[in-house]
Amino acid sequence: MAQKTGSINVTSENIFPVIKKFLYSDHEIFLRELVSNAVDATQKLKTLARAGEFQGDTDNLKVNIAVDPEAGTLTVSDQGIGMTAEEIDKFINQIAFSGATEFLDKYKKDGASIIGHFGLGFYSAFMVAKRVVIRSKSYKDEPATEWSCEGNPDFTMDDCDKTERGTDIILYLDDDNKENMSKKSTIEGLLKKYCKYLPVPVIFGKKTEWKDGKEVDTEEDNQINETTPLWTRQPADLKDDDYLKFYHDLYPMSPDPLFWIHLNVDFPFHLTGVLYFPKIENNEFHRDKIQLFCNQVFVTDQVEGVVPEFMMLLHGVIDSPDIPLNVSRSYLQSDQNVKKISGYITRKVADRLQEIFNDDRKKYEEKWDDLKIFIEYGMLSDEKFYDKAVNFCLVKNTEGFYYTLDEYRKLTEGNQTDKDGQLCYLYSNDKVAQYSYIEAAKAKGYDVLEMNGQLDTPFMNQQEQKQEKCHFSRIDADTLSNLIRKADAKKVEFSESERRENNVLFSSQIPECKGTDGKVVEWTVDFQAMDENDKPVMIAQNEWMRRMKEMSRMQPGMNYYGMMPESYNLIVNTEHPVIKRILTNAHAAVDADLLAIVDDIKSKEDQIHPLEDEKYKAKAGEFATDKQELLTSLQNDVTELKAKETEAMKNYGKDDKALRQLIDLALLEGGMLKGEALATFIKRSTEML
Ligand code: ADP
Repeated sequence: MAQKTGSINVTSENIFPVIKKFLYSDHEIFLRELVSNAVDATQKLKTLARAGEFQGDTDNLKVNIAVDPEAGTLTVSDQGIGMTAEEIDKFINQIAFSGATEFLDKYKKDGASIIGHFGLGFYSAFMVAKRVVIRSKSYKDEPATEWSCEGNPDFTMDDCDKTERGTDIILYLDDDNKENMSKKSTIEGLLKKYCKYLPVPVIFGKKTEWKDGKEVDTEEDNQINETTPLWTRQPADLKDDDYLKFYHDLYPMSPDPLFWIHLNVDFPFHLTGVLYFPKIENNEFHRDKIQLFCNQVFVTDQVEGVVPEFMMLLHGVIDSPDIPLNVSRSYLQSDQNVKKISGYITRKVADRLQEIFNDDRKKYEEKWDDLKIFIEYGMLSDEKFYDKAVNFCLVKNTEGFYYTLDEYRKLTEGNQTDKDGQLCYLYSNDKVAQYSYIEAAKAKGYDVLEMNGQLDTPFMNQQEQKQEKCHFSRIDADTLSNLIRKADAKKVEFSESERRENNVLFSSQIPECKGTDGKVVEWTVDFQAMDENDKPVMIAQNEWMRRMKEMSRMQPGMNYYGMMPESYNLIVNTEHPVIKRILTNAHAAVDADLLAIVDDIKSKEDQIHPLEDEKYKAKAGEFATDKQELLTSLQNDVTELKAKETEAMKNYGKDDKALRQLIDLALLEGGMLKGEALATFIKRSTEML
């Protein structure tokens, strides 16, 4: 052909500096683009051969990459279909360029998010090169063509002496990239990142070996890629070892995964892949371990939007030509195809878990402790997944047995349903610390779950909403007879003054305790007429308050609960013989002295109540001054009298060793007796012996 020069039709005044400037951060993708073009050209030739339109040998076609640090060039060569002069004119001068212009238009709207996701194609070469040369010979019998362009809209095109079929793309690297992009290690790194699983052999020089203290080339090609990676093969042809090997190729430092799922779908979109449930160690979760491919070309490890949120914790690969890669993330999330893909993956993962559960429950149970976090996360964040997972979600009891939610309900329903028909699931979050509570529950024939997972609290909240008439209670949330109330509780028969005095008697002897947040805890004393064989004193922490505080740690916006002091109950069993004795002794000792005070309080309170009533009913300003004065003076008197009463009880209490001992024992059982209080307890115990 006659030499041709031309000017590319540029609408934006000069695209090349723009390409360089805006894509600088991600300019390494040029190699991915050029190598995938070379792979495409190779596969097109194979397709033609299969259709009988090309007669030559297509068995050993390869893509070669070469660097020449001295000349500052990088060459990508293929033995594919090649391009005629006419095709270069069409595909490179016109079509490819329009792609680049389109990119610019989108860039203006979408900002930085599309960088790297837009298949800029051939022209991305100009991100690193000052001059690009194409030498191509088509499989059609036409002379080879050389095209050259120096990073501006002008190009030259002429016949050339290339005799082998295929295309060489030669990049004359610009000054900024000359050193780095002609370095063997850089290019090998990039090829391994983007081209590791391309379907045509990608060769980068020769394998090397050490000989006489020097690294020298061997005869063997340095093939970068594995052309038929695991996910492209049929599950029936694969063994467990293949899946494990592939996993370790992807994540060399990770322990064996728990399970894997081979995805394979043709309709209504194309998607293949393998997802692994990793074994989580040291609570380390990674959200960037799924690699997204498009026809075996690595695209990204940012899969937000493509897979459901909770599955981002999985590892593995997803390959789909139907995921639009050249668009912004917000677009990706609203894309219907992508939504379908995400829904499909959810379903498929759930089905596979159900299958493993059905086929080999023992194996499933063995892995449950590690698997649990994924399932709970999925159930909490995805309704569709919940509906399936509810059938294979397990709970474990403190004896180490596993049950499905249904099984566990059936197991406990008979014995742990209270008089109002509420089923109470008892749980422990620390088998060792709550040992004696668990034993007490077992003695009553109750079962206790082990709930110490990171998501167990929200999971229990969810179950309480989903399951009918059930609630979860930590084993130390109250007395067992209150947690699962079988009949109306027996009332504690105290007179008003007795209630006041007994309360002081106990509360004044509780040593100062720090809660899990390091702050001093608050106490309420609760007298209950339990069974005489139940413990005399025990510590409990209200389930609801504790859970709110736990949730506040996970969810911002619930800080209100987080700020509140921890509060505990000291539950005193009034039916226990020792408590009976303590109370009898206390009253025998103080009642005579307090008799007058108690009577006085009573008579003053009898005067206060009607006055308060009147004041409450009176309109503002209409409560007579003399009545107000009387009320205030009576109230002051009562406060003073009660202080005397309190003082007397406190004084008595501090010398009642049995009482203090019982409180300390309860604290000890609840893991709250520490420091000075513990030392006092030990000393007192020794003295008592
Ligand atoms: P895309 O690959 O997205 O179509 P490109 O800008 O990368 O866009 O390439 C434009 C066109 O140039 C390709 O569609 C192809 O027809 C042709 N082409 C590019 N590289 C080669 C090659 N190595 N061999 C044959 N044709 C090629």
